[in-house]
Amino acid sequence: MCFGKKRNDSLPECCTASLHLPKYYFISSGTHILASPIEYLKGVGPLRADLLKKELNIFTFGDLLEYFPFRHIDRTKVNMVSDLRPDTDYAQVAGVLLSAEVIGQKAGRRLVARLKDKTGILELTWFQGVNWVQKSLEPGRSYLVWGRVGFFNGNPQIVHPELELLVPDQPLAKNFLEPVYSTTEKLKAKGLGGRQIGKLTQVLWAQLKEKDFEENLPADILERLQLTGRFKSLQQIHFPQSEEEYQAAVKRIKFEELFIAQLRMNLLRSERHRFSKGVIFEKVGDYFNDCYKNHLPFELTGAQKRVLREIRNDTATGKQMNRLLQGDVGSGKTIVAVLTMLLAVDNGYQACLMAPTEILAQQHYQGIGALLEKLGVPVRLLTGSVKSAERKKTLAALASGELKIILGTHALIEDAVQFQNLGMVIIDEQHRFGVEQRARLWKKAEIPPHVLVMTATPIPRTLAMTAYGDLDYSVIDELPPGRQPITTVHRLESQRSKVMDFIRAEIDKGRQVYIIFPLIEESDKLDYENLMKGYENVKAYFPEPRYWISMVHGRQPAEQKELNMKRFVEHDTQIMVSTTVIEVGVNVPNASVMVIESTEKFGLSQLHQLRGRVGRGAEKSYCILISGSRLGNDARERINIMTSTNNGFEIAEKDLQLRGPGEIEGTRQSGALNFRLASIVQDRDLLEIAGNLAADLLEKDPDMVSAENLRLKKFLQYRKGPVQWSKIA
Ligand code: ADP
Ligand code: MG
Repeated sequence: MCFGKKRNDSLPECCTASLHLPKYYFISSGTHILASPIEYLKGVGPLRADLLKKELNIFTFGDLLEYFPFRHIDRTKVNMVSDLRPDTDYAQVAGVLLSAEVIGQKAGRRLVARLKDKTGILELTWFQGVNWVQKSLEPGRSYLVWGRVGFFNGNPQIVHPELELLVPDQPLAKNFLEPVYSTTEKLKAKGLGGRQIGKLTQVLWAQLKEKDFEENLPADILERLQLTGRFKSLQQIHFPQSEEEYQAAVKRIKFEELFIAQLRMNLLRSERHRFSKGVIFEKVGDYFNDCYKNHLPFELTGAQKRVLREIRNDTATGKQMNRLLQGDVGSGKTIVAVLTMLLAVDNGYQACLMAPTEILAQQHYQGIGALLEKLGVPVRLLTGSVKSAERKKTLAALASGELKIILGTHALIEDAVQFQNLGMVIIDEQHRFGVEQRARLWKKAEIPPHVLVMTATPIPRTLAMTAYGDLDYSVIDELPPGRQPITTVHRLESQRSKVMDFIRAEIDKGRQVYIIFPLIEESDKLDYENLMKGYENVKAYFPEPRYWISMVHGRQPAEQKELNMKRFVEHDTQIMVSTTVIEVGVNVPNASVMVIESTEKFGLSQLHQLRGRVGRGAEKSYCILISGSRLGNDARERINIMTSTNNGFEIAEKDLQLRGPGEIEGTRQSGALNFRLASIVQDRDLLEIAGNLAADLLEKDPDMVSAENLRLKKFLQYRKGPVQWSKIA
């Protein structure tokens, strides 16, 4: 009986985020009716207005109009109690109220009412507003109730139903599709349930006229895609006459959201290409060539070479480069970073590489430092734990320009760190860095340095288009030759001793092993205890003095962490028991087994990232996912995906589908994903079309000066835009 996009009753993220102002809609001149404060709407008033603002971020008439229903109910249809099934979802039932009694004590106190139609009895339950609701109910009279159907002890029930008195002789059928809106318990308590919000919207709509809504999409696009006009689409998303009308409105509004977002991203990128100022790297010089010809321990893959060419092209133009480099775990991003930094040094500029953790920065320093030393390029490390005398030296050398390359952690963005002429910023494993942190590094030079952002794991294409669409994009889509695929298996906790036997055999062949436990939050005692128990267990399995175990976790002091890590890197220890602090970037090619404990607690991309710690050398590698025998569907699905593919791009897509874009690390703070209706998972085709049309439009009219495009540009300015990654990367 209902249709529309099925969503949870809880609010979509976009409604709860505190994004507001500047104006969301298109104002032509003067004060637009849609800018009127919500308290001025009939039926709202100050009290409800306050709640609408706090609970739903609805401040103005326009906000209410853009608060879309999550479904419609066909008021002409009433369900019979006997037709209700566990999978019924929402239902509308008409019947006589038999009783309404308060039962239970304290937290269990609730109001239970029974509604009877000619086929059976439906139970209605309230946990909140018990007294108030009971007073308003009149057993013996007929009611129309609506809500989500659940089953309790085999009987159908609705918790916190919406309900109204059925007046005899008044026809039930109102002959329209009634919109239903997400709401909150607090709003419900003040009489603003999902249906009442619809009544407000109706009051509002009655005051609006077509001329209040200027069309913002170009006519040829409307025609090509057969899209409903702006005014009509807003009417029909709330009050459709048929499902077809509703779907047409949804398509139009989704397209508008995606198109506007793509236009903005493309505009930012094209403006940077046209107008930004960047330092010019004129030549490929001696350091680069010496490294490339004489010091590379391997031949670069085709993909690595291509990316270097792209970077080389960008940095020679006099415009600022802002590039996102995607590559799967182990695809060899580090060497690309090194050669890119050398390009800067060859042209008289300084370069820096920022890593998200101390361990990773250390490791870069050991690996990259050794290579740069052979070339005679001065390089230093700056992290939180560098001692002050050493630190002073480093800062002075940076400021004088004597130091060419610096590697480090977020310690690099402190104000005390001043460069003489910073020309290239590389950010490794970018998802660990917050937006602000990147912005601060970027401000360290007058002409902005070129920026290369490297991802830890691939980002799905649709997400890259929306969240990073203003950056140029490179991808290493090829792994270095000779890698054997990692064999991934799932084992139960009860099979642990077999897993340990396997580990022992591998170690006896000279390999090393990681055993990973879920992250330790400062507050999470349980995780900590599990890790300690796990460590003791491993020790018990390997009592002989020839086995050595390292342990690394977030509660250790930095020095201890480093020492333990170092011992593993240097093969002093064969087993590394750790939390996810080693998740990104760590490179120990001799490690061939990755054991993950409590696998169900990890996300998909995290699992892939962890697995990427093995399979880095020539040895055959294994990833063993351990879990209990009782698994939820999602966890099972994640494990299935992990055991069936090694491809990070595929996994990223699956991860996006499973978790939704809001959960993907690093994009959470990006306004780019705050769509009201569109979804980059479900609407990828529409997104592709929107992206192409936006690019076309800018190619034909880069400054958006035609009358139609000017209007569109104005609309862009009113809309709150996404984070500009290129300004903050
Ligand atoms: P990631 O992209 O995950 O940062 P790394 O840069 O750490 O990957 O590289 C992973 C491993 O592959 C390193 O041991 C590195 O030396 C090696 N490697 C990188 N490029 C090549 C190549 N072209 N041929 C062979 N090995 C390579
Ligand atoms: Mg790396």
